[in-house]
Amino acid sequence: MTDTTCTPAHLDSPGKSSPWRYFDAMLDHCYDYAEAAHARGQPIVGIMCEFTPREIIMAAGGVPVCLCGGSAETVAVAEQYLPANLCPLIKSTYGYLVKASNPFLNWASLVVAETTCDGKKKMFELMAATKPMYVLELPQKSEDAGALEHWTEELRKFMRFLEAQFQVQVTDDRLRDAIRVMNRERALRRQLAELMALDIPPFSGRQLLDLKSLISGISADLEQYEAILRHVHEGLHEPAAPPRKAPVRVLLTGVPMAHGAERVLELIEACGAIVVCQENCTGLKPILEDVAEDDPDPIRSLARKYYHLPCSVMTPNTGRFDTLRALAAQFRPHCVIELIWQACLTYDVESYRVRTFTEDTLHHPYLKITTDYSPADSARLTARLEALMETVRARL
Ligand code: SF4
Ligand code: SF4
Repeated sequence: MTDTTCTPAHLDSPGKSSPWRYFDAMLDHCYDYAEAAHARGQPIVGIMCEFTPREIIMAAGGVPVCLCGGSAETVAVAEQYLPANLCPLIKSTYGYLVKASNPFLNWASLVVAETTCDGKKKMFELMAATKPMYVLELPQKSEDAGALEHWTEELRKFMRFLEAQFQVQVTDDRLRDAIRVMNRERALRRQLAELMALDIPPFSGRQLLDLKSLISGISADLEQYEAILRHVHEGLHEPAAPPRKAPVRVLLTGVPMAHGAERVLELIEACGAIVVCQENCTGLKPILEDVAEDDPDPIRSLARKYYHLPCSVMTPNTGRFDTLRALAAQFRPHCVIELIWQACLTYDVESYRVRTFTEDTLHHPYLKITTDYSPADSARLTARLEALMETVRARL
């Protein structure tokens, strides 16, 4: 690695102030919150996908917790039950069940599954042997007449299921309260992400990735998002030093990076780049659109928002290209890197169109990285990333 390929100097020292440090202990906060909720009988509900409307779970009195596994350590044990040639996110998630080592999954009285990718669908069937499971059927022909109607009805069925399960009534007012909380959370996270559009962003992409929670709607989290935004706006989160050299700005797209699986982003930024925009499901994709708060039919407004999510499981998935175009204009990246977890067919196949779109429409260099949670290929990935950075710098 050359001198210019280290982390940009202004990001060496994140200038971590107290609201920032709060998210260093995100897992501890979530643990305490869920443990207390579980102890007082509030249902813990595991979710696995951004298509699952957390608002309906919250309106039914449940605590929605993201269960997506990001640990390489739970992959091997999952391979006793699942094919080795399966996405590491699915294997890691299932491995936590096998090892009974995810307290949130242990506490969960229900797991909400969805018919997105085939690997997850079939893993959910195995998980259902141990955990109560509710499957949301997501129509996948995004432009089909009647598809949104089907999804809306699917969400109504889910709401009725939760009402029966948790012995509550999910009123429109409760749904609207949950929608307001989630809209506030989305808006705050969006504002933090939008700071990366600055010429000298106040955070690294890695630091931004930490600013989220496994559990949505915790009011202490929302207050800390506000505090971080205040710190930045008041200059209390100034970059520690001017950058030695302008970093290469990267738009990262592709699969989500569950908590613990941030290795590729770290490798990118260790090569003198800054990930100014994460289009994926752990980045901006799920928080770009809010839910209408004044719709007379809140389930319908929820259905509309979630159905618009431009995931590669949809066919066609034209919304992803509109999103990429808008994000490229806003964040001004120098290149696009696409992350694909091994055996993620939908993102892998769609990557041909993403490459073509990046090169022909955005006119940026494109790099596809296919990997899993193991660090075995880190040196090889670094070499490819350094070559990309050289290409980009030669064009600047
Ligand atoms: S990438 Fe698609 S399947 Fe994965 S969490 Fe996002 S919406 Fe769900
Ligand atoms: S990364 Fe791909 S294969 Fe893995 S769970 Fe998501 S959509 Fe499915």
